[in-house]
Amino acid sequence: MTTLDALRDWHRGLRAQFPLITGHPDQAYLDSAATSQKPRAVLDTVQRYLTTANANAGRGTYTWANATTALVERTRARVARFLGDPEPLRRSGVHFTSGATEGLRAVARDWLPHHLRDGDEIIVPFADHQANALPWLEAQQLLARQGVRVTVRELPYDPASRDYDHVALAGLVTERTAFVAATHVHHVYGADMNVHRIRAAVGPEVPICLDAAQSVGHLPVDVTALDVDFVAFSGHKAMGLPGTGAVWARNTRGPAFTPGGWAGTPNTCGIAGLETALDWLDAAGTDRIRRWNTALAARLTDGLRTLDAYEVLGCRLSLAADSEVQQREGIVTFRHRGIGSNDLGFVLASHGLLVRSDGHCQARAGESESSVRVSLHVYNSPEEVDRLLSVLRSL
Ligand code: PMP
Repeated sequence: MTTLDALRDWHRGLRAQFPLITGHPDQAYLDSAATSQKPRAVLDTVQRYLTTANANAGRGTYTWANATTALVERTRARVARFLGDPEPLRRSGVHFTSGATEGLRAVARDWLPHHLRDGDEIIVPFADHQANALPWLEAQQLLARQGVRVTVRELPYDPASRDYDHVALAGLVTERTAFVAATHVHHVYGADMNVHRIRAAVGPEVPICLDAAQSVGHLPVDVTALDVDFVAFSGHKAMGLPGTGAVWARNTRGPAFTPGGWAGTPNTCGIAGLETALDWLDAAGTDRIRRWNTALAARLTDGLRTLDAYEVLGCRLSLAADSEVQQREGIVTFRHRGIGSNDLGFVLASHGLLVRSDGHCQARAGESESSVRVSLHVYNSPEEVDRLLSVLRSL
């Protein structure tokens, strides 16, 4: 029995919980790497919160204000537990953001400058999302204006697998290496970047910041196993509301992460939705979600391989779910050898196939310039993948 057959009933039960999906059977939403759809439970929580307890957090002494303050603090601990933190909020902290971009910028703006010294070196991934490259360069410039010189090196890639090259990385590390930024799952190639190897390559002291925008909500993310120091993610890609996200900080290597100065009013209904989103994901099982998405992506890549007109970008060594080399999560990016990707995007949309076509915000635009990205989640079905393949075949 294939993974898709084995998980079929489980998937049907989950898909039925997404009103925008079930309400539009003619549309196949294939853009979950941009943002996920929302299950009924999250929508209900937000409605309930706004109609029973809406108030500001941390201010006021009446019931609604107290309930909102408790919600925010409870959700902080919930985020830490969801990420496998064994002692939520004992030393670690959780800071709510509007998404992964703001989370990474907060680490770059409010923590990194306090940590780095003149002559330090940092290592960052330039073929990944710009949200995980530009903030570190901005921090370098900010420090330069204060007379603190920091060298930025590129986290090396293995050109064949497009995985990080952890052997080359180990060779880059010096006694001045003070920080590494990495990405858990690549937003264009869908590659699992094997970040568990980074700790061994850089040694026990160097803080590692993980961009988990494409992994949280899609697969188990465990800060203990990965031994990273920051995890920034998008709540809105993990079944939560638009404009939500968080950064988890370990706070044991370097200064504590205390972002934000004047905190202002938090996105309380977004935080309410995030708590339910994480409960929903745990109940669905992130491991099963991963198996489903990986199997759908494999169905698509296998189908595309039989079509000469298409080129799949990214790892060509192995994409098997059990590969020791590299695993592809639920993202497949490709292009047609004759049709431009924007045109292809329009054609697919006219068939109700909602994909993303452009340069995908890659920091150093490379081969991903102009391609079509299909990104899958647990509400997508094998039939939708087959529908896409059949339209692609007809072009
Ligand atoms: N990093 C990666 C790998 C992403 O895919 C994205 C979203 N496309 C981001 C960061 C930015 O996330 P957000 O939209 O939540 O700011």
